[in-house]
Amino acid sequence: MIPVVALVGRPNVGKSTLFNRLTRTRDALVADFPGLTRDRKYGRAFLSGHEFIVVDTGGIDGSEEGIETKMAEQSLAAIAEADVVLFMTDARAGLTAADEAIAQYLRSREKMTFLVANKIDGIDGDSAVAEFWALGLGEIHQIAAAQGRGVSSLIENALAPFARAMAEDDEFAEDGEESHKPLREYTEEEAEAEQARLQELPIKLAIIGKPNVGKSTLTNRILGEERVVVYDQPGTTRDSIYIPMERDGREYVLIDTAGVRRRAKVHDVVEKFSVIKTLKAVEDANVVLLVIDAREGIAEQDLGLLGFAINAGRALVIAVNKWDGIDTDIKERVKTELDRRLGFIDFARIHFISALHGTGVGHLFESIEEAYESATRRVGTSMLTKIMQMAQDDHQPPLVNGRRVKLKYAHAGGYNPPIIVIHGNQVSRLPDSYKRYMMNYYRRTLNIVGTPIQLRFQEGA
Ligand code: GDP
Ligand code: GDP
Repeated sequence: MIPVVALVGRPNVGKSTLFNRLTRTRDALVADFPGLTRDRKYGRAFLSGHEFIVVDTGGIDGSEEGIETKMAEQSLAAIAEADVVLFMTDARAGLTAADEAIAQYLRSREKMTFLVANKIDGIDGDSAVAEFWALGLGEIHQIAAAQGRGVSSLIENALAPFARAMAEDDEFAEDGEESHKPLREYTEEEAEAEQARLQELPIKLAIIGKPNVGKSTLTNRILGEERVVVYDQPGTTRDSIYIPMERDGREYVLIDTAGVRRRAKVHDVVEKFSVIKTLKAVEDANVVLLVIDAREGIAEQDLGLLGFAINAGRALVIAVNKWDGIDTDIKERVKTELDRRLGFIDFARIHFISALHGTGVGHLFESIEEAYESATRRVGTSMLTKIMQMAQDDHQPPLVNGRRVKLKYAHAGGYNPPIIVIHGNQVSRLPDSYKRYMMNYYRRTLNIVGTPIQLRFQEGA
């Protein structure tokens, strides 16, 4: 499971600066979708070989009344759900009462906490942070988030235990568990054999969406219609439940973020909806089913979840729910809004359904299968190179300084999402428009539906 890192601290210590630095490098796919903006609070990070979810909990002003009344519920939930807390302070401002209150709160939580002193650029770090030892949180990690100084070693320290766990996972992975790993180059025969094997694996399907869009209703509808093989599994209330099921001879593992199978049994204070739980489910899924409420239109939170799913490279199907009993003119309005706000993700199928009545639910699975098939399809080197060549013949790359950018060959670099690596000369000079042209050419030629595609360009052969 991907670790979650929460940034905690009073306002102005540099949390959003660090957040931006950590999440910026992971934008390869988002860059392909100009309509997507990054979430300012939740991001995916990739640094020093560690992949993790980072959450900016916002400013905690730990002064007067006690932290829990001061802090947004979502921020407290984020701390509770995080695997690691980076508690940020400002080395220039020195220790404040708010820092002390936050430290006390974190100590009482018994969270794995790393004390970070930010803004050590241009000052004598050791003497500036000396007073922070009084917080009783051990070693003080000195960084300058704005310059990136000390950030890699901080992350290496903080995530070291998870790196070990992941290395073990790899070693002991069952056959079916390594489905997100990059792959080497494939001949056409190997590609076909691999493809056949993949079609035997269960599809991990995460049903996500903001509160009250109908996730539980849909999950119950799906499970009610189908044979549920097993559903109860141990775990904390904060984790999604994994429900194996079968449909039309195909195996699935439904990742239940709505807590359908849990709610009846456990009465817990943890709220039903959790962004972090949803993000973890997305990370672990092959296909994401994003549920949107037709009656509410498209909300910022829908776009945030969508952005995360695309950024994670997941195959995607969109269900516009509660399509029953609404007027034709409202239906038209919803469709126009979908076009306007989601038009840029033209690869994902959109279904209009009623989870309550079961209308359209069966067809969802056709798109889910199609998206999975597209996302995991193995294509050999010669085919990928041929398509690249065709695209290049149809439409030459531009001249750069009087020389034409030349693309030489292509091979697969991974799947779910499909990654295509293209080698050539001066590829760093290729304009985005040409990269998009190439991506769309692959999409059309290989008929890839329901998944983002990532192109990577490499200089030389
Ligand atoms: P937040 O409120 O905790 O999210 O803090 P911000 O990230 O918005 O940063 C607050 C201010 O501190 C901004 O003016 C940043 O430019 C500045 N800042 C952040 N990191 C550093 C740093 O490493 N060095 C210096 N000198 N300033 C920084
Ligand atoms: P969740 O929070 O996303 O799990 O949402 P729920 O499944 O709990 O549904 C929230 C509310 O929307 C409930 O009152 C449901 O009965 C209602 N609802 C769910 N699906 C539909 C639907 O297709 N049509 C209508 N009219 N109501 C629905």
